[in-house]
Amino acid sequence: MDDCIFCRIVRGEIPSPRVYEDDDLIAIHDIHPAAPVHVLIVPKRHFRDLMDLGSDPEGPAVAAAVARALPLVAKAAGLSGRGFRLLSNCGAEAGQTVMHLHYHLLGGRPLGEKLL
Ligand code: AMP
Ligand code: ZN
Repeated sequence: MDDCIFCRIVRGEIPSPRVYEDDDLIAIHDIHPAAPVHVLIVPKRHFRDLMDLGSDPEGPAVAAAVARALPLVAKAAGLSGRGFRLLSNCGAEAGQTVMHLHYHLLGGRPLGEKLL
């Protein structure tokens, strides 16, 4: 997608240091961190959101790639053995602002019972 900000980051058109990268995804620091550690896990392929992922034939493979990478991303972000929260906002009522599927990896302090 030409004008998608995360596609542009994936292509390297907008610089964003990688916390982690493999063939399927990148992990970058959120520019407005909501916790001491706030990393975005961004599949390289453009899916709009979780609904798009789940209805695409390639979706399960991408979901598996995220699951495989998660321990490596958590380790690279310094969260191994500490705990963290993983979430993805899907659509308007969840407050999704970037329409390229991504997962927020949050940690670095006790996160409490609420979402953040
Ligand atoms: P969401 O509201 O779930 O769509 O999350 C989008 C997230 O992307 C927000 O937490 C933003 O702070 C973050 N974000 C937007 N632009 C960038 C960027 N260029 N680099 C890193 N994070 C970004
Ligand atoms: Zn995109």
